[in-house]
Amino acid sequence: MTFRPWARRIAVGSASAAALVAFAVPAEAAGPTTASTSATAAVTAAADVDYTTWQRDCQTVMDQALPYLKQRIADARPGERQAIVFDIDNTTLETDFGFSFPQPANRPALRVAQYAQDHGVALFFVTARPGIIAGVTDFNLEHVGYDVSGLYVRGFLDLFKNVADYKTAQRVDIEKRGYTIIANIGNSATDLSGGHAEKTYKLPDYDGQLS
Ligand SMILES: [Mg+2]
Repeated sequence: MTFRPWARRIAVGSASAAALVAFAVPAEAAGPTTASTSATAAVTAAADVDYTTWQRDCQTVMDQALPYLKQRIADARPGERQAIVFDIDNTTLETDFGFSFPQPANRPALRVAQYAQDHGVALFFVTARPGIIAGVTDFNLEHVGYDVSGLYVRGFLDLFKNVADYKTAQRVDIEKRGYTIIANIGNSATDLSGGHAEKTYKLPDYDGQLS
């Protein structure tokens, strides 16, 4: 893994979005060259947390989540359909460190996700990413090892909603589909507020620097 600094949140967010949209449209319109150029420009803006620190901090949180999940999965009620909700950017994928496509998995989160999916838990991904990149996002998640039971991306009207409200509404929808959300894992406060999960686990965003 290349050791990279990251850019500040807004610069990185727009570069990440530009990169993904570039991959989502035909090569003649905007190819990977365009995407990597944008990403390179963004990372020069620089920062204060390195990859190793981020991985260690993520592992610390996942070390708390895994024993709980093992117990909760073992204690499943008869007929209960258990689910975990994950954020995507800088939670399940290395968005602000992995300027490539497919983006690598955030390995501490992947290990927890794979334990859960191997034990019958459905994984739902709720992201503020726009619907235009749903296909590449789903492919990326599956490619790096996640079993995607559902992917929620923002539709046009959702773009006008508060992100926390939008994400909460998706968890309500998952519950209406008959699932019990045993954990909600994300790296931003807006991933986790609003209830509709038995437990929440917050990965670092370093005061909003990571999307
Ligand atoms: Mg995120």
